[in-house]
Amino acid sequence: MSGRAAETQGPPGDVPAAPPVAVVSALAAEEVPVRPGELLGRHTSFRIGGPADLFVAVQTVPELQAMLRVCHAHEYPVFFLGGGTNLLVSDRGVRGAVLKLGKGFDFVEWDTHANGASLRVGAAVPFKRLVLQTIKAKLAGLEFAEGIPGTVGGGLLMNAGAFGGEISSVVEAIEVVTEAGDAVSIPRQELDFSYRHLALPTRAVVTAIRMRLAPGEAATLQAKVAHAKARRDRHQPRGYPNAGSIFKNPIGEHAGRLLEVAGLKGARLGGAMISERHANFIVNAGGARAADVVDLMGFATRVVRDRFEVALEPEVRLVGDW
Ligand SMILES: Cc1cc2nc3c(=O)[nH]c(=O)nc-3n(C[C@H](O)[C@H](O)[C@H](O)COP(=O)(O)OP(=O)(O)OC[C@H]3O[C@@H](n4cnc5c(N)ncnc54)[C@H](O)[C@@H]3O)c2cc1C
Repeated sequence: MSGRAAETQGPPGDVPAAPPVAVVSALAAEEVPVRPGELLGRHTSFRIGGPADLFVAVQTVPELQAMLRVCHAHEYPVFFLGGGTNLLVSDRGVRGAVLKLGKGFDFVEWDTHANGASLRVGAAVPFKRLVLQTIKAKLAGLEFAEGIPGTVGGGLLMNAGAFGGEISSVVEAIEVVTEAGDAVSIPRQELDFSYRHLALPTRAVVTAIRMRLAPGEAATLQAKVAHAKARRDRHQPRGYPNAGSIFKNPIGEHAGRLLEVAGLKGARLGGAMISERHANFIVNAGGARAADVVDLMGFATRVVRDRFEVALEPEVRLVGDW
């Protein structure tokens, strides 16, 4: 098999389903570009994942609305992909459409005032870049997020957090497009945030986030960022693809500590390995398949349950056709 064929077909047996002709024709009529059979391993930080039946990157809100209306009308499922840094996508891939927001959703509008600034941030903005920009502008509120990869939209959905901070603390409102294609704004008081989770009132794509940041002192902000960076450099695995913390921290405990005390560092199944540096990271040590990662997660969960009577829950989201 040529390299090109191997790239486009995915691993043996992981064949995408042909999307319904009616969906493809309706999207073509709306001039929404689609890529059938796109391998999702190219879009995840784990570098794992089979094909999407239909991959759609939209550039504008009207294009997004058209795409969602078509899929809704044909009851064709849609999965929203952010930066793919908290996902484990099945080897068989995702049935239906996988939607990604393109460049048109990568913007930041600033409104600075005496009490800090109000920002309107596109959902496709890389979270790391936003953090650097706000520190440079001497604005406080996002220092905790230094080093969190992915997009601001994905960060919102995961209520991403670190070092005691969470994105929920700065959110004022969000803009979404509903599955029926309507653009609506949802105020903070209607958003149900919890640990690493935002329950959207309706199944919707987030297009922008409005946040308020307080004025900060440059030296203090930079010190916090440097501290966060040093801790990540010391403890997190480098050089191997991964999806961050695999399990949520149980209340009052650290999943990584339980896994380490249980002797699981370095445990390996196929190409998946529990990191030697931080036991709550599973890394793709080479050629890992989603099945390897899931089996290793299952093994680690059983060991921790038997030893500590603690039920670990995945933080990474399992996506697709298992
Ligand atoms: C090295 C490393 C370190 C990490 N450190 C941290 C950390 O310190 N703290 C932390 O919280 N996380 C961490 N993570 C996990 C991950 O980076 C975060 O959860 C991140 O916020 C996910 O953003 P994403 O854009 O990659 O979302 P994805 O992984 O693509 O998606 C996550 C979820 O959000 C949904 N989603 C994404 N975009 C949208 C949208 N626009 N509208 C609707 N739904 C959407 C997806 O459907 C999915 O359910 C780390 C990951 C890695 C690889």
